[in-house]
Amino acid sequence: MNVGVIGSGYVGLVAGTCFAESGNDVVCADVNEEKIAMLNRGEIPIYEPGLEQMIATNAEAGRLQFSTDIIQCIQGSEVIFIAVGTPEDTDGSADLKYVLQVAEQIGKNMNGPKIVVNKSTVPVGTADLVRAEIEKHTSLPFDVVSNPEFLKEGSAIDDFMKPDRVVIGTSSVEAAEVMRELYSPFVRTDNPILVMDNKSAEVTKYAANSLLATKITFMNEIANLCEQVGADVAQVRKGVGTDARIGPSFLFPGVGYGGSCFPKDVRAMIRTGQENDVEMSVIKAVDFANNEQKKRLTKKVISHFGESNIKGKTFAVWGLAFKPKTDDMREAPSLTIIQDLIKLGAKVQAFDPEAMEVAKKMFQSQGSPIELSETSYDALNGADALIIVTEWNEFRRPNFTKMTQCLKSPIIFDGRNLFDPSKMSRLGFTYYSIGRQVAGA
Ligand code: NAD
Repeated sequence: MNVGVIGSGYVGLVAGTCFAESGNDVVCADVNEEKIAMLNRGEIPIYEPGLEQMIATNAEAGRLQFSTDIIQCIQGSEVIFIAVGTPEDTDGSADLKYVLQVAEQIGKNMNGPKIVVNKSTVPVGTADLVRAEIEKHTSLPFDVVSNPEFLKEGSAIDDFMKPDRVVIGTSSVEAAEVMRELYSPFVRTDNPILVMDNKSAEVTKYAANSLLATKITFMNEIANLCEQVGADVAQVRKGVGTDARIGPSFLFPGVGYGGSCFPKDVRAMIRTGQENDVEMSVIKAVDFANNEQKKRLTKKVISHFGESNIKGKTFAVWGLAFKPKTDDMREAPSLTIIQDLIKLGAKVQAFDPEAMEVAKKMFQSQGSPIELSETSYDALNGADALIIVTEWNEFRRPNFTKMTQCLKSPIIFDGRNLFDPSKMSRLGFTYYSIGRQVAGA
């Protein structure tokens, strides 16, 4: 099948590459010339495990091409995926400007029947808007399919190649059949392809992300309670997660969710509720509680040192990406923590295994207020304490002796519960974590 993917970011690039991997001829198009030039040189603009190799193999086989020529991408494809960004608008809603720009371009450049697939996360009713926009410019036949994406950064290839389910929103039997054919190589273990109407597919994506954000936030709140009452959230998590009705995933407490999806999708869901006179009280509370949770670690730092003593202190930060195995820092908790510390007059030395380039660009635009260290141990040199924000594997088993030698004082604020409190106490650390008692204080 000839497949066009417009928007070659995390989602478009992964989807396009995986469709090429299953034998389709794919053109990934993007307006970002620098991104396409990099891809054509064999450089990958994002960090995603396994992606580089898969792109190289498929590009070499001639099945995967990268282009800034959107018109050619439209005209050469039977199925066109829209995978552009849908960032948060000022009122919390998803900004559909890029999606509708692409719809307009498709309408203006149609050269035969097409299936237009909304892969971007878009609010309910967007398929109708896309259809109306295309219809303004063409009388050729086309279908609009809503096909939300559920991949996770860090395991995007695996998630795409082995999805729990594929959601296809369409009222066209023919379009559903083409989509089934496209996705059938990825559901060979009989995971379902769920065909439903466009609106239900659009709501499914927001409902799934909001529910996951709720699970995380709920457990963060339980963790905060555990701290106050002398309970251990690690035990509570096991006690709760072994209930088959609840399940073990998304119950690890931390410093709040971040990233390019949960925060904006939760807020877009709230906005959709407002527009439709539905009080989304649970999700509103989730958004509020998550913003508070991002401040939680800094509050522990303040209560340990005293607010007036933070000025002039140096803090090592391990982990900048919003989660491990990605270099994405969009709405990362690290940003809130670093900004709060800097506001209090502290100095920050940070390290992340993959997000250093992204961080450099991000902090350069703010006048480089932090120091980016070469290694995790460099970040500790002369620091008054370590703050752990992202649970990268390499932070799980560090050399504690070396850590005590590098740090000015052996104090750790761990936002991801990487270590055992009693062991940390034995090693001579003062160790704060989330939902557990302070060790060694
Ligand atoms: P991204 O910002 O990484 O990539 C979007 C790309 O679209 C950019 O490269 C941009 O240059 C390009 N673009 C913008 N306007 C364009 C236009 N008119 N023509 C061609 N290209 C254009 O975004 P992303 O993370 O890939 O997300 C894309 C969509 O998928 C969003 O709606 C997001 O919510 C959703 N989504 C993201 C994830 C994720 O983990 N990142 C997961 C599921 C769904």
